[in-house]
Amino acid sequence: MDEAHRQTLGRAVIFLGPPGAGKGTQAKQVAKYFGVPHLSTGDMLRDHVSHDTPLGRRAKPIMDRGDLVPDEIVLDMVAERIARPDGANGFVLDGFPRTLPQAEKLDQILQARSWGKPVVVHFVVDPAHLLRRLTGRRTCAIGGEIYNIYDQPPRVAGRCDNDGGELIQRADDQEEVIAERLAAYEAQTRPLVDYYRRQGMLVDVDGMALPASVTGRVLEILGTGQQAAR
Ligand code: AMP
Repeated sequence: MDEAHRQTLGRAVIFLGPPGAGKGTQAKQVAKYFGVPHLSTGDMLRDHVSHDTPLGRRAKPIMDRGDLVPDEIVLDMVAERIARPDGANGFVLDGFPRTLPQAEKLDQILQARSWGKPVVVHFVVDPAHLLRRLTGRRTCAIGGEIYNIYDQPPRVAGRCDNDGGELIQRADDQEEVIAERLAAYEAQTRPLVDYYRRQGMLVDVDGMALPASVTGRVLEILGTGQQAAR
């Protein structure tokens, strides 16, 4: 993409939706487009787990069973990450906030830093498709590129198109854990849809469309500044 044509994001964008809605795939594209960080709390936590940090050791059993990690762990991690200079022109939050206390704390953090209101992009996906998306998901061990063995397969089975990295399945993308993650979404995260909609900050996006067209729609929302009117 041509740097000269890159628009400035200048705000926080929240990608909201159930596991398997395509948040990670879209967040990578949109963050790249605007040249801002993609902040995935799931990726940050997996990083802690793979480095066997004290935080990772606390989070691992919770993640393995598909439950949400306690708010204070996630909030400390996010507050520290947002404060870094690379987020000065905005950032895309993927998988955060996931509970009302997290959303309220994020409001405070953004206010304290004189950020305007975030834009919340809500990915709407037919629940019947989520299982297929999650069980078919594979992630490149090198660059983190996301594939789906059913719908978005790589050119060579098991290998990333970009860098040839091994495609791996996330430990929590097993069917029994997926059920728990979807239940956690319904109980703890779904209320955020109303929380943000009431405040006029939320835009629904059809997450069932082809990935490139979903990206186009999200960029349109973020680029035109018409999100409140839609
Ligand atoms: P994700 O990659 O977003 O699907 O997250 C994977 C797992 O990390 C979740 O199932 C939770 O256990 C944990 N996690 C990620 N983000 C959060 C969050 N904002 N609050 C609590 N737990 C989280």
